[in-house]
Amino acid sequence: MRGKEQMHIVLATRNRKKVEEIRRITAGLSISISTLDDFPGCPEVEEDGATFEENAVKKAVTVARCTGRPALADDSGLEVSALNGAPGTLSARYAGEPADDKKNIVKLLQEMHAVDKKDARFVCCIAFALPDNKVHIFHGYIEGFIGKEPRGSHGFGYDPVFYPTGSDRTFAEMHDAEKDAISHRGRALTAFKRFIQQWIPGENHDTKNH
Ligand code: IMP
Repeated sequence: MRGKEQMHIVLATRNRKKVEEIRRITAGLSISISTLDDFPGCPEVEEDGATFEENAVKKAVTVARCTGRPALADDSGLEVSALNGAPGTLSARYAGEPADDKKNIVKLLQEMHAVDKKDARFVCCIAFALPDNKVHIFHGYIEGFIGKEPRGSHGFGYDPVFYPTGSDRTFAEMHDAEKDAISHRGRALTAFKRFIQQWIPGENHDTKNH
């Protein structure tokens, strides 16, 4: 706090790893962040949209209405060229319910076993909804390819099998700051931060290095 009022934002997710990354990447902004754990009365949002954007907007708007506070939602996933964009919006539950990162990776590696073309990208859509129903959207992408076996223990989801273009290490082999600097979520949140810096008077002085 630097003597000015903090904006209070609710993260519309229960995914602890996402919360961790979002908190890390937005550190330094004059915002205080709470999560859905602080608002147990908010309804679960069914992520049944055809696009990341539809799902992100639905989550953010529902939580902004339910809490009466600005809400930020992340909908993200992996798109593999040879699988026509799958697992896409179904990334979290690719191997079925309940969502299981390890099973998802096993299924993906099976699908990719006989495939030469390994190109893939991560996509992140951030929706920032205000209680007056206005929604701002930010996108981020990172291109790369799928490896033959899992490597590394950091991060979450498909990180152990995703190599960003030009890297000989997977996201799961990178330190947090390395992933954040190039990841789909890092890029979408950088755009969000730029927006917030213009929105909160004086904010840009304090966050230019983030
Ligand atoms: P969502 O909660 O529907 O947005 O699900 C996102 C899913 O996409 C996650 O459960 C992961 O499987 C995958 N995913 C999204 N972002 C990342 C990432 O940064 N690393 C690895 N997997 C990710």
